[in-house]
Amino acid sequence: MFALVALLCSATAGHADTIVLKNGRRIVALNVREEGDKVKYETSAGELSIPKSIVDHIEKGGAVPMGDSPAAGASNLAITPPAIEVTSGGSEVESGAVHDGAIDREYIAKLEGAARGGGPRANGSAALAHHAAAQFELSRGDMEHALADERTALTFAPEEPALLMNVAYLHLRRSEYKQSLEYLERARRVAPENADVAKLAGWAYYGMNKMDQAVAEWKRALALRRDPEVQAALDKALRDKQEEESYKENESSHFTLRYSGAAEPALARDVLRTLESHFSAIESELNFTPPDSIGVVLYTQQAFADITRAPGWVGALNDGRIRVPVQGLNGVTPELSRVLKHELTHSFVGQKTRGRAPTWVQEGLAQWMEGKRSGENADDLTQIYKDGHATSLGRLEGPWMGLPSDAAAYAYAWALANMECIVRAGGMGDIERILERIGSGSSTEAALREVLHSDYNDLMQSTADYLRKTYGR
Ligand SMILES: [Zn+2]
Repeated sequence: MFALVALLCSATAGHADTIVLKNGRRIVALNVREEGDKVKYETSAGELSIPKSIVDHIEKGGAVPMGDSPAAGASNLAITPPAIEVTSGGSEVESGAVHDGAIDREYIAKLEGAARGGGPRANGSAALAHHAAAQFELSRGDMEHALADERTALTFAPEEPALLMNVAYLHLRRSEYKQSLEYLERARRVAPENADVAKLAGWAYYGMNKMDQAVAEWKRALALRRDPEVQAALDKALRDKQEEESYKENESSHFTLRYSGAAEPALARDVLRTLESHFSAIESELNFTPPDSIGVVLYTQQAFADITRAPGWVGALNDGRIRVPVQGLNGVTPELSRVLKHELTHSFVGQKTRGRAPTWVQEGLAQWMEGKRSGENADDLTQIYKDGHATSLGRLEGPWMGLPSDAAAYAYAWALANMECIVRAGGMGDIERILERIGSGSSTEAALREVLHSDYNDLMQSTADYLRKTYGR
């Protein structure tokens, strides 16, 4: 006889390697190996191969890439699956079902046949074989087949809490929280005192953003058994909940604003009024109204640094919501007003281009809108261009967060100068048309060619000329 026992186990995640191509692209993949003039690797869609000639090198090790999910925060919780311990007779089934790096479907079919006419033991073996197959697929990041096998396992042992929990676990990894809860409720009916049921239920509620229930489940799990993973998850949920509760909410026609309890309510109202007036101004300049309400969060400095972990030189930022540190302020200063207009421009550009605008366009336009002009940097920029050291706009398309502060300062100034040159030559209408084309999928340089009849090099040349004529001494 064998029994299935749910136990907490150490991580069963497999390892992934990174294939670095000569063009710099990186492919994270499972089971990477070289065969002849090919490099082969596995994906959930099957095995793929690429010519060795385009591969620079292979980096070994790393975590299994799990399926992307919109609720990334919750799907990335560091929680391992509940393991099944096989007390006797079962290891034979496991090594029959998976051996030599593959699943033995013939062997599993034989066990299924035996289970049809057999008793509980035959059914248990068929269940365990499918469970072993599912674990193998999970270790390769193939969630879909893992789920299919785990559910088949359950048909042979429908009351087995460990299998119910493993199906629930796979749903959790796929961010399918509701489905997961259904299996956990079934498991709880069979094993009401099982700590893993509470642990996984906490995860499901956390994913559904039901913090009170998540906290209750994780506390229950800890009362049943000490578990550092649950402790870490509970601490995080309590932090989120506390932060959430200390915020008050305000709304105006285009904004949802949240602010920490330490911020003055009068400041929040003032911020909303300022934002609404900037909104009308940008709306008419860009001839566009963002369809989605814009989220704004006011932080005291401390909370801002804690939550976003942004590098120190960023005063405010826009990651979909406008996040502004307001420590010590009790009204909107001219400086705060400029910051708000800058960040609000990012929201407009983001929504108008469906998130496709490159960084130099975003930052160039945001600075223009907040009222910055190129005067103080014109001489330096002209000189750098003359020396042939200007950074190509193509290289300023990606994120700038990793730039050292002097390189970032140059990038901001150069982006503003190019944007200023476009606006001064053709007005906001040109910007509007460029953004529209970027939004419908054009590359930025193609959009410039269509609207301005110039490529990046032409624009940079015009910008250098413009700076010299406008600000040169
Ligand atoms: Zn910015």
